[in-house]
Amino acid sequence: MKFEEYPIIPEIITNLEKSGFKKPTDIQFKAIPPILKGEDVLAIAQTGTGKTAAFVIPVLHLLKGKKRKRRGNAINCVVMVPTHELGIQIADVFKQLGKHTGIKVYGIFGGVEQEPQIDALEKGFDVLIATPGRLFDLVSQGHLRLQRVEILILDEADHMLDLGFIKDIQDLIRFLPKNRQTLFFSATINKKIKKLAYSLVKNAIRIQISPKDPVAKNVEHAVAHIKKDDKRFFLERLIKDHPDNKFLVFVRTKVRAERVNKAMERVGIQSRTIHGDLSHNERINALDEYKKGESKVLIATDVSARGMDIPNIHYVINYDLPEQAETYVHRVGRTGRGNQKGIAIAFCAEEEKEMLAEIEKFLRKPIELIKISKTDYTETIEFSTDKTNDWKSLLREEEKNGKKRKGKKKK
Ligand code: ADP
Ligand code: MG
Repeated sequence: MKFEEYPIIPEIITNLEKSGFKKPTDIQFKAIPPILKGEDVLAIAQTGTGKTAAFVIPVLHLLKGKKRKRRGNAINCVVMVPTHELGIQIADVFKQLGKHTGIKVYGIFGGVEQEPQIDALEKGFDVLIATPGRLFDLVSQGHLRLQRVEILILDEADHMLDLGFIKDIQDLIRFLPKNRQTLFFSATINKKIKKLAYSLVKNAIRIQISPKDPVAKNVEHAVAHIKKDDKRFFLERLIKDHPDNKFLVFVRTKVRAERVNKAMERVGIQSRTIHGDLSHNERINALDEYKKGESKVLIATDVSARGMDIPNIHYVINYDLPEQAETYVHRVGRTGRGNQKGIAIAFCAEEEKEMLAEIEKFLRKPIELIKISKTDYTETIEFSTDKTNDWKSLLREEEKNGKKRKGKKKK
């Protein structure tokens, strides 16, 4: 089926064509009809399979179809997201596919001043994309009314319903009309969260694509056993062996991100970091540069693990293994987007073997092992241009500091 055969307004069809979207992906094919009918949907599909457009297309049609009059600062659709960057990305998809429909989209996020957001909200918007904390602040201060919300969307739904966000979301839902349409989208979900999701809706239709292997089929992924102190040499080698490729490197903490960044700098590799300690502008700039390909290596914490759709990432490196097994799926899912293929390599140190076992349990199969011979291992260390001889003690010291700081700050 082609998009032009869908019962949606012609403006959206034209915008889809212009975006190069010819036919729906599997999740779009399954999710669009029930959403158009006004049903609640819980949709689980692998990373990079087009979940955003799966809700944006029908929601634009529904909002436009009703030709409603905007009243004051009331909002018709709220999309909740875990991070500012993901919010901007989704707003862009709404704007791109909603061109010439008159649908107005706005994003509000924490970490930046509230006043300009309050002023903007006066104008009224059809779609509001928000991180839950700031949304809750604005609602409780009376700057925003949610009584007219007809559609609530949770992207990265399992994460949104998990510990860090659930309280804000539950508080917010009390401000929403009971009679609304609720849509959940994610690449992963567990039983507990699924139950919680169902408790928030009436009769959700559940849509699940390829549930057996949560890792997207376009991602080839493997693990290598590398000593903690040697990881930097292997990263250096990989990057230098593939100078034209784009690398997204995930580390456990903000401190580690800066640390690895410095190590790369020392061996002549230009990299940038993205984590929760950087200002909003710094994060957006780092991401923009990386998107444009001006920087080829981005070292990130899990703030960037979910949802980000950056074209042409060739390699995702799990420099440190993630603490939660499902995060592995989201991290490696930053490559292999749409029709593209990608490679993900995890560096597993002795101390991380338990985490590896957890991840493999979650995936229900072992991750392919890259065997490194002793000669190759030594050669990689010798290949390094990092000749500072005190790096080991520096690293150990930083590790200790990192551990002390861990748990006190957000990622
Ligand atoms: P997900 O949320 O499932 O991880 P996204 O919604 O971010 O995936 O989409 C992944 C990529 O696929 C995006 O770059 C998007 O532009 C592209 N895409 C989405 N739908 C289609 C389609 N129908 N045809 C071609 N490309 C698409
Ligand atoms: Mg997504």
